[in-house]
Amino acid sequence: MALLELENLVMAFGGFRAVDGVSLKVEPGTITGLIGPNGAGKTTLFNVIAGAYQPTAGRIRFDGEEITRLRTDERFHRGLVRTFQIPHEFPRLTVLENLMVVPPKQPGEQLWANWFTPGEVARTEAEVRQKAIDVLAFLELTHVMNERAGNLSGGQKKLLELGRTMMTNAKLVLLDEPAAGVNRTLLRKLEEKIQILNREWNYTFILIEHDMEMIEKLCDPVICMAEGKVLIEGDFATVRNDPRVLEAYLGE
Ligand code: ADP
Repeated sequence: MALLELENLVMAFGGFRAVDGVSLKVEPGTITGLIGPNGAGKTTLFNVIAGAYQPTAGRIRFDGEEITRLRTDERFHRGLVRTFQIPHEFPRLTVLENLMVVPPKQPGEQLWANWFTPGEVARTEAEVRQKAIDVLAFLELTHVMNERAGNLSGGQKKLLELGRTMMTNAKLVLLDEPAAGVNRTLLRKLEEKIQILNREWNYTFILIEHDMEMIEKLCDPVICMAEGKVLIEGDFATVRNDPRVLEAYLGE
């Protein structure tokens, strides 16, 4: 069963269809690359999947359930996480604190409910802290654990953002241009961590990316959109060599 299934999705702004009848399936355990020229509708599609926009028509199923009309936070609890959906780092909090403030499940519920039960507090807080420490070790960010997050480099902030999704019960993570503003060294690290999360933690990813090296290295399948529609889906080589894809980019 597909983890995510889109059926004839349409997102119109006035008379303009930014997403124009998209149907696709995302299988669990995959890293799907979403490419296409500027204005193709990729970001709008992410917004519809995450629940920021209500689609004009069509249906979305996630993890066996129809979620078309669910709110963003209701999707989040089901494990559908968009990276920027989790607020960007709090620059004045430390890196460790930034991970500890991510709601593990229901914002305002689990963590805060326990707050008022003596004995529970320490246990929960200690657990959250330990998990945050483990996440930082995995991301190789332990050395900056007590730095203010605002002082991190662009690449370290992207790793921290990935770390924040690891504090949730994510099943499907929508990554919006993870490579943007990241230097080559940290880019390799980011790619490696995404691959480990995919292979060993069963995270499914969809990523919008213009960096074709990253798409080639990580993604199968690759979906190319143009003018609100899916132009082609296939492995990287098939998509790259399709004349319609070249044409779409030339028309940009
Ligand atoms: P991409 O991410 O592939 O570059 P977008 O999804 O950002 O494409 O945009 C697709 C088209 O939809 C563009 O022509 C854009 O101007 C239009 N669009 C996106 N959001 C809105 C909006 N809120 N209102 C009107 N038009 C929009």
